[in-house]
This record gives sequence, C-alpha cells and structure tokens, in this order.
Amino acid sequence: MLNLEKSSQAFAQAKEVMPGGVNSPVRSFARVKCDPPFIAKASGSKIYDIDGNEYIDYVGSWGPMIVGHAHPNVVKAIQEATTRGTSYGAPTLLETQLAKKVIELMPSIEKIRMVNSGTEATMSALRVARGYTGRDKIVKFIGCYHGHADSLLVKAGSGAATFGQPDSPGVTKGTAKDTITVPYNDIEAFVNLMNEQGDEIAAVIVEPVAGNMGLVLPKQGFLSTLRKETEKHGTVLIFDEVMCGFRVALNGAQAAYGIRPDLTCLGKIIGGGLPVAAYGGKREIMDCVSPKGPVYQAGTLSGNPLAMTAGIATLDIISADPAWGKADYTRELSIKTKHVLQGFAKAAKDAGVKVQLHQAGSMFGVFFNENDVYDYATSESSDQEAFGVWFMSMLEQGIYLAPSQFETLFMSGAHSDDDIVKTIDAAEVAMKKVAEF
Ligand code: PMP
Repeated sequence: MLNLEKSSQAFAQAKEVMPGGVNSPVRSFARVKCDPPFIAKASGSKIYDIDGNEYIDYVGSWGPMIVGHAHPNVVKAIQEATTRGTSYGAPTLLETQLAKKVIELMPSIEKIRMVNSGTEATMSALRVARGYTGRDKIVKFIGCYHGHADSLLVKAGSGAATFGQPDSPGVTKGTAKDTITVPYNDIEAFVNLMNEQGDEIAAVIVEPVAGNMGLVLPKQGFLSTLRKETEKHGTVLIFDEVMCGFRVALNGAQAAYGIRPDLTCLGKIIGGGLPVAAYGGKREIMDCVSPKGPVYQAGTLSGNPLAMTAGIATLDIISADPAWGKADYTRELSIKTKHVLQGFAKAAKDAGVKVQLHQAGSMFGVFFNENDVYDYATSESSDQEAFGVWFMSMLEQGIYLAPSQFETLFMSGAHSDDDIVKTIDAAEVAMKKVAEF
C-alpha cells in the first residue's frame, strides 16, 4: 500500500490556506480516490514525494519536461543566468535568441511575442485576431482547453471538464455569446457554421491535436477544412500548440499535418519548466500588436531572462542535430511511446479489458471504451470508474499518471528502457484490477 501520510497532512494544511489546497485544480486529485502526493524533488524521469515514494512520471509538469526533470544543461544554464539578476524589465539578447529559435522551428511564425502562460498566449492571440479583423465572434471546439481566459471557458476541457465546470460561473453572458462552439472533428457542422456566419468570425482556435479531453486526434480532412474555410472568410486560424508543439513533431502539429495556421500559441516546452508561453504568426497580423500596432498587450515579467534561458536550453537539446544513424529527438520519443502503448494494448487484451489507445508523437492516452473516441462526447462516454481503478493501481506501483481521463500523458527523453519495462509490468497488474472491479 502506498504511504502518503505526510502528503495527506500537508494537503490538509494547504486546504486551510488555498482553495482546494492547490494552485491549479487538477493537482488536487479530486476525481480519484486519494490525496495528491506532495512533491519534494524530481530528476530525469522520476519524481519523489515527501513520504519518500518514487514514481516514474508521465505527467512531466503537464507537458513541459520533454527532456526530463533537472536536465543538467537546463539546470546549469538557469544557475548561471541567476547570477546575472532575475529580471530587468528591459530588452535582452536572450529574447531575440529564443524568438529566432522558435521561428526557425515553426516557419509559419514570422513574428512572436513572449508571455508568461498559455492562458495569456491564447487570450492575446484572440485579441489580436479581433483587432486585425474588426470582428467579435470566435469559434472553439467542445472539449478543447485553451487556458482560463473568460471567452475560452466555454465548453472547456481539462480540469474544467474533470470538475464538471466546462462553462464557468463568472464568465458573463455577454462574453460567452461571442464564443461559438462546435464538436471536435465535426467537419459538416463547422462548414455549415462558416457558411452561415463565417464573415462575422474573427478567429477559429483549435488544438490541432487535442490533449485536454484525453488525447483525441484530428480526423483526416478536419484541419485542412479549418484552413480552407477560414481562408475563404478572412477568419484568422489559430493553432493552439501550447501542449502539442514540439511533441507531435519537432516542428509542431502544423508540420505533421501540413497546415499553415495564421497564428500559433506555444507554451510549456518553450519555457523548459519556467513560466513562458508565446503567440506568433503572420507578420501582418502580429504587427497589429503594441507598440508596433494598436492592440495592447504587455507583461512585467514577459521575456524573463531565467525563463528565456531555460527555454533556449530545452529547445537546443530537442533540436540538436541527431548523431549519425540516430532518429531525431522527437522521433525517438515517439518510438518509446509506441512501446509503452504496445505493452498497454497487450495488458488490456490479456485482461479482457476494452481500451482505446491514442498516440501522437510523445503524447499518449488510454480510454476505457470499446468504441472510437474522436470528440468530447465520445471521450466522456468512456468508463471513468475503470479509469480510477487503473490510475490508483498504477500510482501504487510507482507510475505517476494524470489523475483524470480528460488529460494526456507525456514521454520524456529521460525515460529509460527499464522505466518502460516497469511501466508495462505495472500496466499488466492494473489492467487485471480493472477487469476484476
Ligand atoms: N492551451 C492548451 C492546449 C493547454 O493544454 C493549456 C494548459 N494545459 C493552455 C492553453 C493553458 O496554459 P497555461 O496553463 O500555461 O495557462
């Protein structure tokens, strides 16, 4: 049995002073039957809690830790940077360096603005799209999560779905009415909507690979239809690659699916575990942003030197030229991820449990569902109780997964063959538990 005594005590104290004891809802483990482990440290593929438990971590701080925790290059770079001061609120060479690096990796981005969170990136991208087009309405897809800006907390995924709060109180009717929602992958509904209202729609925002209703992949023709229809109506197409950027492929989901969005939102990996996100895209649109243009957006800590340093160090690792004969970093992660899923598939089959296993590069997920999962409704139809049994059994065996069906799992460069063997062994036990419950 997992001993979480100290974590439980810490959680009780945290709940006295923070809503739900946490600074972000899903961390509370409120939908699974245990208190959250309080983390003391992390290294490579492992995290360690204050009770002394060690876990192989597939959450990776919800995506950023693609090179593993406390990677020596990243730690060294941050340590050196701190000696030069932690924030200046003035331009630095580092900002241009990271901007150039991102632009090199994602050619649809011609100009970029750094911000501090994915929420800020999507919120700002929408403002620019509205400023650029002079239109108010936006389209989002049900079950996609784009952060917690008011206009995006409408039929939202991730924690908002986990806690049954897809439409948050506090978002005014006036704001919500400008957000039109369509089921993910529903090409027909989208085309009909654009035929009716396309000329009034400022932006269509989408997770090109959706990671916030579990991992849901775009159907063939879905993303290309978004591109075609938005182009036709002068609507700005925003790819929210905060999660899937650099994971589905080094150059993003946009490269994997061959679509050039007008704007892209990034986050997580570009900060290497420090608070960084960004939005960028076509020069003509980005030149609307202040001080070049009239659309206001600013940040005291935006482009922070430590955060830029961590981002540069992380992107340098994943984009380094591969050694002779070796696949590139992202592709290697995909191969490891595939091995884990092959193990999960066998474990499920042997136990007689019906699952849908999804993968996109180094992102992966398990649905306890005998039918295809391709949108929020089909994701929600999965067996949540089975998920809870699976999750708890894996945690008890030292495998740290996201504590909700509506999240995605992440592979890092630090996960070893031994980690993968242990993970698959644990899955065999966990799938049997699911079969028995
Ligand atoms: N967009 C996507 C696709 C995300 O997955 C997230 C967070 N998981 C966000 C935006 C919001 O990012 P943040 O939590 O940094 O505000």
